[in-house]
Amino acid sequence: MISGGCQCGAVRYRSQSVSKASICHCRMCQKAFGNFYAPLVTSNNLQWTRGEPKYFKSSDKVTRGFCADCGTPLTYDWGGEVELAIATLDDPTLAPPATQVNVTDKLDFVDQLHQLPVRQNSSGESSFMDDLQSHQHPDRDTDHWPPQTSTKSST
Ligand SMILES: [Zn+2]
Ligand SMILES: [Zn+2]
Repeated sequence: MISGGCQCGAVRYRSQSVSKASICHCRMCQKAFGNFYAPLVTSNNLQWTRGEPKYFKSSDKVTRGFCADCGTPLTYDWGGEVELAIATLDDPTLAPPATQVNVTDKLDFVDQLHQLPVRQNSSGESSFMDDLQSHQHPDRDTDHWPPQTSTKSST
């Protein structure tokens, strides 16, 4: 069983398995993900285990699901098996993309991204990451939501 969910944890899912991982370069996927392309994997027997997505019908053929609380893109539904946004899996390494689709819309710089120079974190930046308190849901199912460590909600 494969689990995953949105960044805030309001929406969680399980899938019996995943298959056919791809990246889609179409302009609608770029916009819906706010990104250069959309990594998607077909879900088999998808079940919502906490909350459910809100949906936007981006065309007459496709409905896209996202978390209404935090905005994470979650699903792509063209009428067959629902596809999941790969990085929302608790373990995205289970779905390495194997194909690219709709390359006519591919942004020119995408093929050079892996060649970008790497800037090492300055000491200031690493302390920024070290000190922050994450509000991101952990990469596993949890018994309670919101997390019980949060003290704000009871006041
Ligand atoms: Zn969320
Ligand atoms: Zn697309």
